[in-house]
Amino acid sequence: QPDVLDSKNLRIKLVLLGDSGVGKSCILLRFVRGQFDPSSKVTVGASFLSQTINLQDSTIKFEIWDTAGQERYSSLAPLYYRGASAAVVVYDITNPETFLKAQFWVKELQKHGNPDIVMALVGNKADLESEREVSREEALAYAESNGMFFIETSAKTADNVNQLFEEIAKRLPRGQS
Ligand code: GDP
Ligand code: MG
Repeated sequence: QPDVLDSKNLRIKLVLLGDSGVGKSCILLRFVRGQFDPSSKVTVGASFLSQTINLQDSTIKFEIWDTAGQERYSSLAPLYYRGASAAVVVYDITNPETFLKAQFWVKELQKHGNPDIVMALVGNKADLESEREVSREEALAYAESNGMFFIETSAKTADNVNQLFEEIAKRLPRGQS
């Protein structure tokens, strides 16, 4: 549930999900720090990073949780999902296996997540159009049938990264105020 700090300010927990290597940490660092580092192994070094955005006359502080690579081995601890108001499920548009894995994470969220959770399906690495193996149409159809919104991003070029978080902010349920 979003924390309503006052009528105009929300603080929300957002979790990143998806196969290892799809670019979750890069999306996070692009959004929070405006950086992309293709060489270094990304370590966030904390359970979550915060970033605040303004939307019309309100502010939304995202507390964005990234995994430390546990997604490789098994399902994530229920603690990871607990209290999350939003989830971003990422796949790599050049790798169909990661799209299948995204569908697994959506099912996990449907089982363990808060029923009102705002979910986004994100096709990352959109800069690699010539290597695309997952079509927009297929992903959009899947997202729509699961009540998610769909967007393609590139953490490398920054394409659609801010838009992703703005779209989530717009879809968050607001408390009566
Ligand atoms: P994570 O395991 O999901 O957190 O993935 P990372 O953020 O560590 O990224 C995995 C690899 O994909 C790294 O080598 C990144 O440089 C690369 N990568 C991430 N995002 C993009 C992107 O948008 N475009 C391209 N071309 N490479 C990306
Ligand atoms: Mg990572």
